[in-house]
Amino acid sequence: MTAAVDGYGRFVDVRDAEQYQTWHGRPGLLCLMCGEQVWAYLSAHKHNSFVRHGKGDTAGQTGGIAAGGDETYLHERMKHWVRDTLRDAGMVDADEEQTVGDRRPDVYGHYNGQAFAVEVQWSDLDEDHARARTDGLLAAGVGQVLWLTRPCLWVPRLPAVGIRDFNPTGPDYDIFTGAFSYWPSGMRVQQYSLRAFLRQWVAADIDWAWIDLTKAGWATMTDWQQHTERQAREIARLEDRLERTRGYLGDLQGKLGDAETKHAESAADVKRLEQQLDDLQRAHERELAEARDGAEEQLDNARTLATRAAEGYRGQQAELEAARESIGTLRTAVLVLAIAAAILVAYIWAF
Ligand SMILES: [Zn+2]
Repeated sequence: MTAAVDGYGRFVDVRDAEQYQTWHGRPGLLCLMCGEQVWAYLSAHKHNSFVRHGKGDTAGQTGGIAAGGDETYLHERMKHWVRDTLRDAGMVDADEEQTVGDRRPDVYGHYNGQAFAVEVQWSDLDEDHARARTDGLLAAGVGQVLWLTRPCLWVPRLPAVGIRDFNPTGPDYDIFTGAFSYWPSGMRVQQYSLRAFLRQWVAADIDWAWIDLTKAGWATMTDWQQHTERQAREIARLEDRLERTRGYLGDLQGKLGDAETKHAESAADVKRLEQQLDDLQRAHERELAEARDGAEEQLDNARTLATRAAEGYRGQQAELEAARESIGTLRTAVLVLAIAAAILVAYIWAF
């Protein structure tokens, strides 16, 4: 361990040379985890200062932490550090583990009539739980919630920043993700000193908002203003393009309407032509039927005529036969007469 609290509960990091000088060989430092007395020491090679409970305690020998104590120690270290930094920034009532609704945020306080809550998260925590805790605090009337977290999966979707090292060697912590600054090409992740960030946060100089549909983050009001202006310009540009697209669409719709009208006219033409063709076909069939009827009538007439002609022929034949017979009879008569005449002539001659 390198940090502890003094008799007033103030955060002390003995790696700071001045703090080490103040506390070396002096009682009054308390363990962040158990609240018992701890002492400030310098390592054997005098390079590193640390705190431990007593000479028999090996936990602080290398300036490190006993196995299993990391999480609690690092969590406590940041909580105390954050509480003191917020108090320095003017949030005089900042304190740990106060009850807010049904929650106990790690650090909680008020400034300018607004309630602030900080959650320190070293161990893994899934997004649903982090969200539920955030919503619980907001529902309890907290105006500003801030997560200082080691696991960073949900940093883009909750009011959180990612902390690089929970046991930093310097007097500050580093934010490496979750904070942004404005660039003409878009909002960019901004490395931040946690101390500077907390001061701006308390002063309402920094706020959390959605950058686009997928990610949110923290930025100063000036940066949000520029971001919003750029978005407004982008919206205006898109509206202009939409307007032009609408015009083009209108033209296309007009052309489509014309084409539909032409198509309808063509369809009417086709219908009319089909009707005409139909009429022609019916007329043709009618004429054909009439022609056939006429032809049959003529054929009947011809047949009748033929029958009559045949009858006439047979009559003539009979007459001819009768005439022939008459001629035969006449010939016979002539012959008889001739014979009679000859006989008569011979008779006359004889007499
Ligand atoms: Zn202890």
